[in-house]
Amino acid sequence: MSDTALMSPPGLVDPVPVARVVTPRADARVDLTGLARPAVQELLEQAGLDPRQAKLRSRQIFHWIYHRGVTDFAQMTDIAKTMRPWLTDRFVIGRPDVVEAQHSVDGTRKWLLRTADGHDFEMVFIPDADRGTLCVSSQVGCTLNCRFCHTGTMRLVRNLTPGEIVGQVMLARDALGEWPRGSMAGLEDVEDAGHYTSDGRLLTNIVMMGMGEPLYNFENVRDALRVVMDGDGLALSKRRITLSTSGVVPMMQRCGEEIGVNLAVSLHAVTKEIRDEIVPLNRKYGIEELLAACAAYPGASNARRITFEYVMLRDKNDSDADARELVRLLKAYDLPAKVNLIPFNPWPGAPYECSTPDRVRRFSEIVFAAGISAPVRTPRGRDIDAACGQLRTAAEKKSRAERDREIESAA
Ligand code: SAH
Ligand code: SF4
Repeated sequence: MSDTALMSPPGLVDPVPVARVVTPRADARVDLTGLARPAVQELLEQAGLDPRQAKLRSRQIFHWIYHRGVTDFAQMTDIAKTMRPWLTDRFVIGRPDVVEAQHSVDGTRKWLLRTADGHDFEMVFIPDADRGTLCVSSQVGCTLNCRFCHTGTMRLVRNLTPGEIVGQVMLARDALGEWPRGSMAGLEDVEDAGHYTSDGRLLTNIVMMGMGEPLYNFENVRDALRVVMDGDGLALSKRRITLSTSGVVPMMQRCGEEIGVNLAVSLHAVTKEIRDEIVPLNRKYGIEELLAACAAYPGASNARRITFEYVMLRDKNDSDADARELVRLLKAYDLPAKVNLIPFNPWPGAPYECSTPDRVRRFSEIVFAAGISAPVRTPRGRDIDAACGQLRTAAEKKSRAERDREIESAA
């Protein structure tokens, strides 16, 4: 049986393989990671529990999954002993498989992960003095072919499920040793019991900036982030979560209303000609339309500004005139904005170079002088290809020409 079904979301040229909500496993058990509590309850009912039991058990299981990091039903000591093997026969609490884990000299960590049906994707953790940011993937590959992005040279394999998205956060917490130990029954004997405090967290922020375009996998990303934000789930505040989009205008309103996280927009250019070239989605949703959607983004305010990402490409989008036009546009739409200048991270065969440090500094000064914050982002994890736009898995290496041929022959 195929694990994916083809469907064309409105407005896309190429068919997008859409995964089921839960990826089928070879052992036919169902992975509960990433499912909302009522969905867990429903699965328990379908497996034969009466509604009252199912509700109680789903609450207990949810707590063990998200507050304790437990992956084995045998450890769920407040669930009847006889029921634990019954659960184990039918369900798992999964994590993506780790194919490879790498550590950068600057502390950045990158994981190559694999889904239960064998697709590879990546996740990055970036530790800073006052925060730890997990960069989460939403798709295996990407349909959007931005010219400066290595992920864009992969074909889209499929959307990640909510379980695979939440699974990244769970796995990072496993790797960082972030699950509480302490007072819960069955774990009293753990040596360093009680040392966990919520403010001592290492993983404090999530950015949907890994592989893929999150707004082309809206429902799965929304459902995953709801579990991450749920007080009974991972209980991470929406203020600590940022979703980055290349500008999928029709989904932005829903993103604000149904998820409510911080928005980052990959603007990267201020003229139609240049943005059409480097972010081809611009041919569908132009700069003006995009900025109007930003101005209408629910929840944006001076306290919660929209981040405009701008990759610095030498002699392409980095002139003084570009900086001034950027300021003009942000002011014309009265946007509560901050700008993030990202020095271009090169990859083999990339058609661009990074702007010179002087150029980046000058660009930043012009935007700052107009009263808009425009820090230059320090590239992290370049030595392990973990920096922005470098994510791409070896399993899917295909040249742009190969992919273009495929698209042509499909058409
Ligand atoms: N698809 C989403 C989120 C993932 S990309 C988006 O495009 O917004 C995260 C950020 O990295 C985006 O701003 C993207 O444009 C930027 N990026 C991509 N390739 C890059 C590269 N080679 N160097 C620097 N930034 C890059
Ligand atoms: Fe896809 Fe974002 Fe890369 Fe563009 S920059 S190809 S939207 S991942």
